[in-house]
This record gives sequence, structure tokens and C-alpha cells, in this order.
Amino acid sequence: MQKSIDSYNFAGKRAIVRVDFNVPLDADFKVTDDTRIRAAVPTLKKVLAGGGSLILMSHLGRPKGVADKYSLKHIIYKIEELLGEKIVFADDCMKAGAQAAALKPGQVLLLENLRFYAEEEGKPRGLADDVSDEVKKAAKAEVKASQKEFVKTLASYADCYINDAFGTAHRAHASTALIAKYFPEDKMFGYIMEGEIKAIDSVLNNSRKPVTAIIGGAKVSSKIGIIENLFSKVDNMIIGGGMVYTFVKAQGGKIGTSLCEDDQIEVAKEIMAKAAEKGVKLYMGSEVVIADKFAEDAQSKVCKVNDIPDGWMGMDAAPSSVKEWEGVLMASKTILWNGPVGVFEMEKFAKGTKAIAEILAKATQQNGAFTLVGGGDSVAAVNQMGYASKVSYVSTGGGAMLEALEGKELPGIAAIKE
Ligand code: AMP
Repeated sequence: MQKSIDSYNFAGKRAIVRVDFNVPLDADFKVTDDTRIRAAVPTLKKVLAGGGSLILMSHLGRPKGVADKYSLKHIIYKIEELLGEKIVFADDCMKAGAQAAALKPGQVLLLENLRFYAEEEGKPRGLADDVSDEVKKAAKAEVKASQKEFVKTLASYADCYINDAFGTAHRAHASTALIAKYFPEDKMFGYIMEGEIKAIDSVLNNSRKPVTAIIGGAKVSSKIGIIENLFSKVDNMIIGGGMVYTFVKAQGGKIGTSLCEDDQIEVAKEIMAKAAEKGVKLYMGSEVVIADKFAEDAQSKVCKVNDIPDGWMGMDAAPSSVKEWEGVLMASKTILWNGPVGVFEMEKFAKGTKAIAEILAKATQQNGAFTLVGGGDSVAAVNQMGYASKVSYVSTGGGAMLEALEGKELPGIAAIKE
């Protein structure tokens, strides 16, 4: 049965915690963004304050085997700095039994990168592309068989299991899901996971109405799952970014050289029909900022979204569109934002995305709206633009948040709950 980190008695217990310390490093192996480590600190401090000890496990990068470049030893200094505790390091995550057994309350052991072992992900490695399906199948069965031992060994180190790695919650890996079964009475979410789950619930299941979703980003094809799932959850849907032009073309508009997925035109038509059927109001903005090339120093002007001249492309939402959306957003009690409404990486075309961030901050502070920024580049945009602390919740998990918004059950969550 699932336990709560707030009421669990950690006194004298060893807690194995799946954290997401997959942080970016520079050429000198210095951590260039410590957000993920910082975010895990409250969970780790809770265990230590309760008289427990910690065994931390994570992946870093995508190693294909043991590789110094991906060693978690590089980030020890940063964990020590943020947690304020000395770290003991196990340089092989499968040979940490003695170190784990020797842990005293208040001590912290960090295991080496889990992905040095293929068993973490449960996928065979090093197979040539041209091997037969038979060989692939046999290799897969072999990893799956040794994965059991891998999971059991990790589990043997601890008395309880905490999953606080939302970024990998959509993966059914050894450390994110399979290990949970060894702790039927002693498994729980950490604070990051609790926060993410609550935020998702506040939008998908227990929302205050009206609910508005802003779905932006480059491609219809990558957002179709979310859009369809949200149709039964939201009152309004604002569609922005590069996706818009596929919809405009589907309606017979002129889109110049704007981004367009021709193979998604039928899908766009279906989405529009379904929105009408479900009573969801769609807003795409009637005007856009267009450019004569995909570059910061392009010439730009505002034009109707469905009348873009030849040789020009839509790059950002125009102020008039943002104004229209603002009315919808300020009347909403719950807002979900996924995906930028323009090419925000270029200063010149970041204005629409910045305006959305500002409106969300205003809706949160003035109206008490619940605002969740989740998945993909909108998270990068609010962080970069300095609005992260002004909205209700900014998700830490890209792919995991996308799958949750698509209505899928995440293995990392299910393993704790079941
Ligand atoms: P996603 O990862 O699906 O959220 O997509 C984010 C990407 O969409 C960002 O890199 C944006 O630059 C891009 N994007 C947003 N609006 C446009 C547009 N009008 N044309 C091309 N790319 C866009």
C-alpha cells in the first residue's frame, strides 16, 4: 500500500530514492543548471530530519555502458552544496551492499549511474542493426531475465522506496517502477512527484471551471494525443505556434511558407469537428506576425492568419490575437499551457509567448486561477522569461507531463499506487 512521505516514520530506516539528477554538465563537468537537484532537496531533507539515511539513485545522460563522461561522481560537489551533507559514493550501483548496510541515520550514499547497466532500462545494447528478429528477441529476453536480479539487488539496499523522479515517471524502468514491488508496505512519492500529480489532477480531474488550455508548439502530430484527451476536460482551447498553419490550410487559408504538416490536414479537420461536437471553443487568433525568412534579422509585419503572402511565414501571435486570448484567459479559473505560441527562441518573435506568460501570472495573482505550465518548451519559456514563480505550477517533466496530459497512466505513478 502506498504511504505518505509526511507521515512515514524514517527513524533508523534506509530510504532508496529515485531522483532525477540528469543535469547538464559543461566541458569541465560542472553542473550548468542545478534545478533538478535543488528540486529534490525537500524530499531528501525530510528523510534525514526524520532520522533516516539515504541511498540516491539516478541516471545521467544516455550512456551505452560504463563511461566516465556520464559518471554521477561529477555532480557530488553540487549535491553536497545544495543538501548541506557529505556524500558517500558507490562507483558500481550493483556493488553497494556493504556501503548501504553501513549507513547511519543522517548519512547519504549516491549510487553510480543506473544506466551503466542495460538492465535499468531493460533494453538490449550493442546489437547490430541488421540482426534478425529472433536475435533481437533473444537479447531482449536475456536482459529482462537479468533485470530481475538487478532490481532485487537495488531493493536489498533499503527499507523503503521513494520515487521523486517525475522526469522518468513515464518509463517502466527498474528504478522508476519495477523496484516498487519489493516495498509493498513501504513505498511512497517524494514531494516533486506529489506536486506534479496534484497539479495534473487540478487540471484533468478536479478542475475549477471554466478551464482553458493553450496548446502551442511546432507540430500538430506531437500534440494530437493531448488535444483529444483535453476535449472532454476543457471549455476553451487556444491553439498557437507553428501548429496553427496546418489548421488554417485545412480551412482553405493562405499560409505562405509557414510550417505545415500536410499529412495532418485531415487530422486538423477532425479536431475542428470534434471541438464543435464537444462544445469546446477553439481560438486560433485572427492575426499573426509574419517574417520573410526564418531568422532573427528577418523583416516582419502583422497580417491575417489566413492571408499570408507568398514567401512569408507565420512566426508569432500578433498583439490583437493575444488581446483576444487574454479575455478568455482572464475569465478562466483553470489554465493549462503547453507549447510556445511563437518562435520564442528568437527575441523578435518571443513577444506573444512572453505575453502569455504575463497573462498567466496575472490570472494566477489577480483571479486566483490555477495555472499549470507543463511539457515542452513553454516550461523553458516561463523559466527563461522569469515567470516561473508567478504561476501556480511549472512541471519538471517534459515527456512525462505530455503523457499524463494525454491521459496515459504513468508506470512510475502506477507502481506506487497499486
Ligand atoms: P514543442 O516542443 O512542440 O512545444 O514546440 C516548440 C517549438 O515550436 C519551439 O522550438 C518553437 O520555436 C516552435 N514554434 C513555435 N511557433 C512556431 C512557428 N510559428 N513556426 C515555426 N516554429 C514554431
